[in-house]
Parts: sequence; C-alpha cells; structure tokens
Amino acid sequence: MCGILGMLAPYNIAQDLYTGLYGLQHRGKESAGIVTYDGINCWHHADMGEIAMVFRGDILKNMPGPVGIAHNRYSTTGESEPRNIQPIRDLWHGQEFWVAHNGNIVNSDDLRKWCQGRGAILETTSDTGVMAKIISLTGASSFEEAVITAFPRFRGAFSMVILYMGRIIALRDTFGFRPLSLGQKDGAYFVASETGVFSHLRAKLLREVEPGEVILLGPMGPITLKKFSSPEKKFCIFEYIYFLRPDAKVFGRRARTVRERMGELLFLEHPAQGDFVLGIPDSGEDAGRGFANISRIPNGRKVILRTHLTSRTFIEPIQELRERGVELKFVFFEENILGKNIIIIDDSLVRGTTLKKFIARLRDAGAARIDVRISSPPYRFPCHYGIDTDKIASELSAARYQGNIEEIKKWIGADSLGYLSIENATKAIIEIPGETLGPSDFCTACFTGNYPIPG
Ligand code: 5GP
Ligand code: SF4
Ligand code: MG
Repeated sequence: MCGILGMLAPYNIAQDLYTGLYGLQHRGKESAGIVTYDGINCWHHADMGEIAMVFRGDILKNMPGPVGIAHNRYSTTGESEPRNIQPIRDLWHGQEFWVAHNGNIVNSDDLRKWCQGRGAILETTSDTGVMAKIISLTGASSFEEAVITAFPRFRGAFSMVILYMGRIIALRDTFGFRPLSLGQKDGAYFVASETGVFSHLRAKLLREVEPGEVILLGPMGPITLKKFSSPEKKFCIFEYIYFLRPDAKVFGRRARTVRERMGELLFLEHPAQGDFVLGIPDSGEDAGRGFANISRIPNGRKVILRTHLTSRTFIEPIQELRERGVELKFVFFEENILGKNIIIIDDSLVRGTTLKKFIARLRDAGAARIDVRISSPPYRFPCHYGIDTDKIASELSAARYQGNIEEIKKWIGADSLGYLSIENATKAIIEIPGETLGPSDFCTACFTGNYPIPG
C-alpha cells in the first residue's frame, strides 16, 4: 500500500507536495520521495523512512519547479530496498520521466522477461520499475500515446502518477482497486490517493479519476486523454475497512461514516451486552462508536490512553517489534477495568497480534469478561493487489484455523468472537447516499477468495 500525489501549480510546489505527502503518511512510512521539474531540470530527493526524517533542513528549498509528484511506500514485511524507493525514474526517447504507483500488478514477471528479452536492464526489483520500463520501450508518436499504449498490458491494481517534462499524467486501472482523486485551488491542480490531501492544502475535491481513465493535468485543469472501458468496478473493500484515513471520501462516502455503519450492523449481526464498548484506537474507534450508539452501551474509550509513541504497529517488520509496539501504544487504567464486562471492537484481525496483546492486558487489569467483535469478515486469503499479504499468508490467523471462529476465539483469549459478514460489510457502504453502487462493485478477495484477476 502506498500514497501517491501529483501537482501542477503557478508557483514552486515542493512545499505543497510535502504537506500533501503528510496527509498520506498513514498509507506508508517505509520510504518517501518527491521529484519536481523546473522547466529544465528534475529535482529529486527520496530516502527510507518517514517524511519528516527524509526531508530535513533545506532540502525542499532546493527543489524548484511548479510541477511534481510524490510517493510514500508501504510493505508488510520490511523486505524493502533503497533501489525500490519511488518515484522511479526511466527514459522515454532519452527524456526522463518519473513514476509513482499504488497497487500491484500480477503479470510483472512476464513483463520483466519481455523487457529483458529486448535487452533492457531493470534497476529495480519492483513491479513499478517494470511498468516504467514498459512505457519506456513503447514506441509512439508522443509520451502520452506511449502511456495509453502500455496501459492494457498491465494486469492488476494500479493508481499511478507520472511526471514527464512539465506534465502530470494520472491513471487508474479499469477495476479501480485503489483510490485516486482530483483537486483544485487557485489555478493549481492536484491528484492524490486520498481526499484528505486537499483539506491540508485548502483545495477542493473536483472528482475521482475514473476506473480506466488516463488524465493529463494541464494548466487549464484535468483533461481525459483516454477512457478504457471498465465493465466491472472492484474497489478494494479493505480500503473502507481499514486503509483510508477516516476523513477520506470515495464514491461520495466518507470512510468514517461507513465504519460507524459497519459497527451498527456488527451489533445487529452479533449482539453483545457489557459495561462498555471499547473500539481499539485508532482504526477500531469508528466502528466502536457505531456499535456503542446503536446498542446504547456506553463507549469506554476513556479507560485507555493511546500514546502516539508509535504509529501503525502492523507495519513493523519483526513480530517482537510489533508486540512491543502494541505495548507502547496503549496504557490501561486498571481502576476502570477491574471486574468489568468489556466488548472490544477492532476493524480487522490479520495476524492477531493486536487483539491477543490487548486482551491479555485487559485480563491483567482484572476484566471479568471480554467479548470481541470485528467489523470485517475473517481475513483468510492473501491479497495480490497491493497489500502484499501473500508474503505473510502463513501468519493469517483466520487462514491458519480455516475460518473456525471457535479456534480463533480460543487463540486470542476472548470469551466470544463475532465477525461482520461480507454482505453487511458491503451493505454498510452501499446504503450510505453517494454514487450508485452494488455489492459486486468491490474486491473482497481476502475475505472470500474470489479474486477478480487470477494471480
Ligand atoms: P493484527 O494485529 O491482527 O495482525 O492486525 C490487525 C490490526 O492491524 C488491526 O488493528 C488493523 O487496524 C491493523 N491492520 C490490518 N491490516 C493491516 C494492514 O494491511 N496494514 C496495517 N498497517 N495495519 C493493518
Ligand atoms: Fe483489498 Fe482484500 Fe481485494 Fe486486496 S484482496 S484489494 S485487500 S479487498
Ligand atoms: Mg488497528
């Protein structure tokens, strides 16, 4: 998972790219990169680590230019390498271009062989490097034509921004797996993974880049260069469950509103009674609020402190670090927990690290009973479209127990366990007013095993 960003403005935009990238930090904290173009040169800076660490001192001041792109990288295993940091550079007819990508294509090995067969040398080991190379090797009368010609060769999930000379090209695969939106402010145009970027820049949301659309960001605004037909939409339902920041809007629906509704439906599907509901911060809080509101059980958020000493613990590459991350992340107020019946809500259970630790801590603090409710279905199948859980397939708790709820319950140490069904997860999105949607407009493969594109 990653965050991508492109901008074109009548002023130097490095600072805006930096601010915007901050609004996407939750999508990846493994590496960060920005490249700008001043009419003659490209100015590039990128490194491993979070944005504030990567762009220290005067770096941004030395990156002139009114046009540029940026990227935040995420991987679930830590097998990341400096050479795969994005944006990635390649050449088209001797002229450099830069690419930032969110998603994952499933035919990258085949395309890599095709490129190597033509004598191309690939400096990266990522699918993004292969996509850039395909564009680079595509003969066409213009760069834009080369991108359009290359597009149908990519099979999988890709939202992408490209910087070529003074232009930004944005594309989104025909399924629309990953989000991508357009924004505007005072003659400046933006394309970003999430709409929160526009709030930070005080820009307004224009619209989403449509699945199958190739857009050119010009001084007069976005122009559709090509619209590939999109017979099926397959937006990643896990974006709504977990990835999007709560303020993000996709299909006209805010992630927070959707998550609260998921929490309500979770109570209706798996009711529970207790002294209070505790949505695990940060990602389980919205569903926890929905569960508490509809059940009229008090919200127990105040019995714990979320320290902000750590960010997304899941991303830590080593299990021991993940566990320590959970310890650092939460402080429990024993006096409010002793003897209480507690309903815990989390958005998902993947490896089980968070819940196992959380439950153990509540038991230590004297909780009498712990009922767990998850606002998504059992995560059983690896994702091939940008979450990279195939690398941790053997660690997926629900897969290990073949979805056997009783076994998972025992393993995490809960008194009861209930998951939201896929029907209710999609219903929570569809019911909220916005663009017309149906249950088949979502990828649900990690929950159902129904892969929209064979891997
Ligand atoms: P677990 O601790 O069970 O391995 O993972 C579940 C927890 O991590 C949940 O609290 C959820 O918010 C978060 N989570 C679930 N999937 C992902 C993911 O792909 N990436 C990150 N960073 N966090 C995740
Ligand atoms: Fe999203 Fe799951 Fe589909 Fe991957 S498999 S794109 S995480 S819904
Ligand atoms: Mg969480």
